[in-house]
Formats: sequence, C-alpha cells, structure tokens
Amino acid sequence: MANYAFPPFPQAIVPIAGTDTLFPIRRVLCVGRNYAAHRREMGGDERDPPFFFAKPADAVVSGGGAIPYPTATEELHHEIELVIAIGGEGIEVSADAASRLIYGYAVGVDLTRRDLQSQAKAKGQPWEAGKGFDRSAPISPLHRGHPPSPDARIWLAVNGEVRQAGAIGDMIWSPAEIVAQASRLWGLAAGDLIFTGTPEGVGPLSRGDKVTSGVDGVDELAFTIGG
Ligand code: MN
Repeated sequence: MANYAFPPFPQAIVPIAGTDTLFPIRRVLCVGRNYAAHRREMGGDERDPPFFFAKPADAVVSGGGAIPYPTATEELHHEIELVIAIGGEGIEVSADAASRLIYGYAVGVDLTRRDLQSQAKAKGQPWEAGKGFDRSAPISPLHRGHPPSPDARIWLAVNGEVRQAGAIGDMIWSPAEIVAQASRLWGLAAGDLIFTGTPEGVGPLSRGDKVTSGVDGVDELAFTIGG
C-alpha cells in the first residue's frame, strides 16, 4: 500500500450501459471543427486537418443531473458530440487498426466558456480555460458495439427547442480516422475518451436551462444548468 500524502482523488469513470461495470477514464481528447457547417460558422477552412485539445479526466460528469453554471464566463456554450471510448493501447496505428481499439461510444457535450476561448484565440493563447474547466464534459453511459450509422441523427435541444441537428455522416473525419490521427500524437491506452466534434448550431446556455441531447443508435443525455 503506497504511503500517499493524502488520499488520491477518486478515479473518474463512465458507467457501461446494461452492466454494473465502470469504464475508468485515463485521458480526454477533443477534436475541433469536425463538421463542415460548424467549421464554417467558426470561421475555419474545410480543408484543415483535424486538431486536438484536451480536458482533464475529472471534467467528465456521468449521469446527467445539475451542472453548475461555471465561474468566470458570461457565455457558456453547448456542443453535442459523439464520444469514442478507447479499449486498448495504440501508437501510430492505421485507420483499420484504430477501429479495433474502439471499445464503445457515448453521447457527450463539450461545454465551452466561449468568451474565454475567443479571447484566447485572439491572443494566440491556450484554450484550457475555455474548454477544460470543472464539470465541462457531461456524458451518457458508454455502449459497446459498432459506430452509429452515417444517417444517425446527432441533436441537442434547450428547453425542448432543437438547437443542433446533424448527421453522423457529416463528420469530416470518421471515428477510426480520428483515433488513427490521435495515435500519431499520443500513445493511446484503454480508458481514453475522444470527443469527436460538434455539428453547427452551437449557442448559449443560461441558468435553469434544461438540455436534452442524443445520438441515434447510441444513447440520450439530459442535464440542467444550475445556478
Ligand atoms: Mn467541441
């Protein structure tokens, strides 16, 4: 038994649907601008290669419920995303090998302090304060199995009004391609999660808002924004 100076912080987890098994989270990577229309609404070039940023594992919130409105922002945004869960080790893998590393899928929301992200972009500074803040990654239970079909709907509604609606087939880079690209930059391992980008329609959330969202064939995710 290690002689820790204080008890280690609890392991971040995602429940695996239909089981009593938990998926222990190692790292959380996120892809920027992976849907053509969202890339355009954020002012990007469709031909850019995918790029990645990270959130800390303890930013993940399982089970919905209430997520407090974060500090230091007046512009909290929602980004509905398909999440890939990695189940094995891989570095510099092909897209074929990458698909074998995928353990399952979940529905996640990449909560964003857009004002802080915009300020960081303008100054050429890192995005952590805009993206990797506390409880910035609500997520559904994880599901084993195949990726959702290209015509599967990915959607998010606020107080019942649909704000984001796209199709998984609109992704510029497929799940296997994203895993292959990420593995060129980091050694992937079981426990990694990759948020795969959001379709167009990102927008603000206010205190008291009820968010419902989902990816057809994967799951749904609901939460509220607290005070
Ligand atoms: Mn995102």
